[in-house]
Amino acid sequence: MPDIAIARFAHEGNSFSPIPTPIDCFKHDEWQIGDGVPKFYRGTKTEIGGALAWLDRHPEWKPTFLRCAGAPSSGVLAPGVFDTILADITSGLSKRKWDAVFLSLHGSLNAAEYAHADYELLKRVRSIIGNTPLAVSFDLHANVSQPEADIPDILVGYKCHPHVDMEETATKALDIMLRKIKGEVNPVAVIVRADAIIPSLFARTTDGPMAEIKQIAADIEKKYGLLDLTPYQGYAYADSEAAGASAWATADGNRDLALKGATELVVEMNKRRPLLFKTLPSAAEGIARGLAAKSAPIAIIDSADHPGAGGIGDTPGLLAALVASKPTKPTAFCFFHDPELVARAQKAGVGAKLKVKMGGRLTPLFGPPVEAEVTVGHLSDGKYVNQGPVHGGIGVDLQGVARLDFVGLPISVMITGICHDATDANFYRAAGIDQTKLQVLAVKAKNQFRASFGAVFKEMIDIDVAGPAAFDFSSFPFKKAPKTLYPLNR
Ligand SMILES: [Zn+2]
Repeated sequence: MPDIAIARFAHEGNSFSPIPTPIDCFKHDEWQIGDGVPKFYRGTKTEIGGALAWLDRHPEWKPTFLRCAGAPSSGVLAPGVFDTILADITSGLSKRKWDAVFLSLHGSLNAAEYAHADYELLKRVRSIIGNTPLAVSFDLHANVSQPEADIPDILVGYKCHPHVDMEETATKALDIMLRKIKGEVNPVAVIVRADAIIPSLFARTTDGPMAEIKQIAADIEKKYGLLDLTPYQGYAYADSEAAGASAWATADGNRDLALKGATELVVEMNKRRPLLFKTLPSAAEGIARGLAAKSAPIAIIDSADHPGAGGIGDTPGLLAALVASKPTKPTAFCFFHDPELVARAQKAGVGAKLKVKMGGRLTPLFGPPVEAEVTVGHLSDGKYVNQGPVHGGIGVDLQGVARLDFVGLPISVMITGICHDATDANFYRAAGIDQTKLQVLAVKAKNQFRASFGAVFKEMIDIDVAGPAAFDFSSFPFKKAPKTLYPLNR
């Protein structure tokens, strides 16, 4: 019976967040090993969920589950975190000889010690497993490089943004790995880099320029009979030498064909670049439009502090603009990450009146806190299971939730015990917020929010406001990313 080791180390690190990511962020989110892995991931639409389903279809393979760690996008991994988690994986790998290894990674892992940390991880894993077949999956927001591409036997990235194809990505990687083991194919990978670091806001693959790129990639893959062709959008806020968008082509034995496919794809990506950089309305403009809309609810989306892109759940700009607009119809703001304020609200109880400062707690970089008198409107433990479509089936623990209702203004503010993305319907239920009853929801979110709530909101308005994942990142202090890339070369 052949043995396969399975591990996961997935995180996307924002070089411009003022808050480093501690290991606890993984321990609170995805932190499994051994029998805990199938228990946690079985039936989920994730890479490990996909690997488990693949194993069901290939019962001849005996799996060993090593450390599976994942955390939402946030700041750079704090010193020591990368080595600690990697040591967990490598100590498992070095215990014996394997017939195959599968790793579920992100591709924009960014550690205090290594900006292009997935490359470091792959090097170390390869040094331990020798020539054992290695299959890897990446997020489409991976920042990739050719030296990295030369390490695994097969690496496949998501094709969809929002990411609804995690399971399929793992399956494809494992299927190609199996064909390689049987001697049917010989995967060779070539990276061709695009000419830009691109913001992800207008890079959905459901519509617009990146939907075209997704289709073109599939067409080129078919035309040349490539094993895989992934258009990586890259992660704009990870400052490393691998920053930027690129195409990763894997051909069967023919490097020239891979180069040809990747080059053709990158030409098409570069052509569409101007469509990804637009001018957005300010928070005040967006809110005015939302409040004036005849048909509600309207979502005002602040992607500059979106936790899924390395946000910190703390920037106050959008709430300040909502307060200044003096709404007369029901509105809600989601959310601030403030465990102390949650505890204060819990102690005071529902109905209690409090004087509070909200946001601007972790850093003064993005504006001062919003001060207000509020009533505690709702309290919960913040535990729920995602209903999907994103991360469906995964349990979440927000470690306490309070909804604070402004006195004298129809504004409710959701406060959470941890910083977590606001992309699942049950996130709002935890605060007793019914989106359908609102005129305006002001929310720290991005594209995955659209996948969940496209049918709920009459309009979703993206705004430009200060934050660690601001839409306009051209003035951010990049140090390692190639200065030849747009918009750094402006
Ligand atoms: Zn992503």
